[in-house]
Amino acid sequence: MVRLLVVGPPGAGKGTQAARLAEAYGIPAISTGDIFRANVRDETALGVEAKGFMDRGEYVPDSLTNALVADRLGHEDCAPGFLLDGYPRTVDQVRALDQVLADQGEKLDAVVELTVETEVVVKRILLRAKDSGRSDDADETVIRARLELFARETAPLIEVYGGRGLLVQVDAIGEIADVTDRITGALRQRGIE
Ligand code: ADP
Repeated sequence: MVRLLVVGPPGAGKGTQAARLAEAYGIPAISTGDIFRANVRDETALGVEAKGFMDRGEYVPDSLTNALVADRLGHEDCAPGFLLDGYPRTVDQVRALDQVLADQGEKLDAVVELTVETEVVVKRILLRAKDSGRSDDADETVIRARLELFARETAPLIEVYGGRGLLVQVDAIGEIADVTDRITGALRQRGIE
C-alpha cells in the first residue's frame, strides 16, 4: 500500500518515471495530463472545455480538475494505493486532495520531486514534440509559459509538502533507469518498498 505524488516541471520526466514506479509498486499511475488529452482526443464535454487552456499552456480550472481526480481515486484499482502524476498543481488542488484523502481516512506516503534545470527541460520538450504530437510541446513560447506557470503556481506546493516531511528530492538528469533507481532507493530509505 503506497500513495505517492510525482511533481516537477514540464519535461522533467514525470510520465516516464510514473509508469515505471507504478509497475514497481503495483499501483495505478494517474496522469491528469493524459486524462485530459484522452478527453480532448475523444471530444468529450470535458475535453472540449479543457482544450483551449491546454493549447495555451495554461492550467485547466481547478473545479474541473479536482472533480476528475476525486472521481478517479474512488475507482477500485486505487485500493492498493496510487501514484498521481501532474496533480496537485495549485494550492487549491492540494486542499481538494487533502479532503478526498481525509474522507477516505488515507494519507500520502511521499511526494517525489524530480529536479532538472530549465534549459534542459526546454530542449527535452522540443525534442519530444517531434514524437508526441502534443500541440503544447512544439512552440517554445508555450513551453516557457508552462515553465513560468510551474514556478509561480506549483513550485510553492513543494514547500508545503516539505513542511509536512513528505518530500523526496531526486535529480532527474541521467539515464531513465538510473533516475528510477534513485527514486526507489530514496523511497526505500523511508520504508517504502
Ligand atoms: P506537462 O507537465 O509536461 O506540461 P501534462 O501532460 O502533465 O504536461 O499536462 C498537460 C496539460 O494538461 C497542462 O499544461 C494543463 O493544461 C493540463 N493539466 C494537467 N494536469 C493539470 C492539473 N493538475 N491542473 C490543471 N491543469 C492540468
